[in-house]
Amino acid sequence: MGNPSRESKLRLLPSVDEVLRHEDILELLARSPRGVVVEAVREALNDKRSEILSGEAPENLTAEESEYLALVVKKTVDAVQLSVRPKLRRVINATGVVLHTNLGRSLLSERASRAVSEVAANYSNLELDLDTGRRGSRYAPLEPLIASLTGAEAALVVNNNAAAVLLALSTMAAGREVIVSRGQLVEIGGSFRVPEVMAQSGARLVEVGATNKTYPEDYVKAISGETALLLHVHTSNYRIIGFTRETTVSELVEIGRQFSLPVMSDLGSGFLVDLSGYGLPPEPTVQEVVKAGPDVVTFSGDKLLGGPQAGIIAGKKHFIEKMKKNPLTRAVRIDKMTAAALEATLREYLDEAAAIKEIPTLKMLTLPVDELEQKANELSAVLQSRTGEKAEIKVERGISAVGGGAMPLADLPTAVVAVSPLAMSAGDLQAGLRQGLPAVLGRVQEDRLLLDVRTIGHHEFILLAEAVQEVLNK
Ligand SMILES: *Cc1c(COP(=O)(O)O)cnc(C)c1O
Repeated sequence: MGNPSRESKLRLLPSVDEVLRHEDILELLARSPRGVVVEAVREALNDKRSEILSGEAPENLTAEESEYLALVVKKTVDAVQLSVRPKLRRVINATGVVLHTNLGRSLLSERASRAVSEVAANYSNLELDLDTGRRGSRYAPLEPLIASLTGAEAALVVNNNAAAVLLALSTMAAGREVIVSRGQLVEIGGSFRVPEVMAQSGARLVEVGATNKTYPEDYVKAISGETALLLHVHTSNYRIIGFTRETTVSELVEIGRQFSLPVMSDLGSGFLVDLSGYGLPPEPTVQEVVKAGPDVVTFSGDKLLGGPQAGIIAGKKHFIEKMKKNPLTRAVRIDKMTAAALEATLREYLDEAAAIKEIPTLKMLTLPVDELEQKANELSAVLQSRTGEKAEIKVERGISAVGGGAMPLADLPTAVVAVSPLAMSAGDLQAGLRQGLPAVLGRVQEDRLLLDVRTIGHHEFILLAEAVQEVLNK
């Protein structure tokens, strides 16, 4: 048969109803919302129609109605499958960045994830005191845990550390002045800048010192009748090195004592265990900072603590009680899943050695390099067996980062699996892997895809290898 005209091709297109009666579409309808399927059929038909009109439709199609129907059905099935995939989905983190903010920061320990699914799927005593049968507080299980782990008198938990800083400033200093060193006016991830959070809280920022040096006298000179608070911000995501002088939390506490002013320390990342014995740079633990005597300390739940997104405020009872009464607290309160995950995470810390094994963030940060090398050899073997001749695979030494704006100078020696695809670029492999289910994120270097095993679980090896195989086979 010769080439049918455009008009006759258009006549061969099935109707929406015909497509909807096709067995593959019936099967699709059993699994997917009808509206989504019907919309996809319409779009597939429209696309085919415009292809025919523009002359793009394959000329070698014969004038068989069934052929057009099959094309539209396939297009519909593909489109629906793509559209019902969750947009927020699992990623295999092969970047080696342990606290990757774009990838959801910390992974929960097994106990913490179980606690989350338990309260998510069942009723719980979130705000009920089971002993008295009266109304309780969602913070009640957390407060004594935080107090005993950090040494603080009292505690409160909000949605994230940015909210913790906002709430603390708004409670302690709204309408008045807060003194901060110029070297500590940090920006974290673009959306949190100390001066902007300060403005939002209603407190007025008084900057003192220079970027690299701020002395205790600089704070003292800035104190006036308007001063409400002395603020110390841990420069967690950058370092000023060389000719520097920082006024420590202890020195601020001393000044605070002299002038009867409260002191707050925004720690950013909250470390409860000292990991310097594992090759990580020394960082102050929350306990050490609390011991120095500030009135309030704030830190994140999902950075080095390794728990859910949360902002923890630990401090003197008087200020914590005031914060609890601030209406902002209701606006930034944690939900039951966060409460469950945080309680379970904090409980892990009651046994420090166990915490390092059970909390994924701590475990990944402290993996010894010989273990990483062994892991890389195992992953390499799994990849080799799946990819055959399509890629060259090697194990190499590399460097992983802590991430999450923590320990910017730490270079953690690691082992990586380097994949050099033979028939495509490493960039194309990387782009293909991002579209997979689960998506895989690695790093491209010198036309090789580097997979850092520090952040890849053993249980993910097969999934990862299948994902690589699928992209290489395309
Ligand atoms: C990360 C960080 C914050 C913000 O914490 P989130 O939990 O991300 O809201 C605030 N201050 C410092 C110093 C930080 O490092």
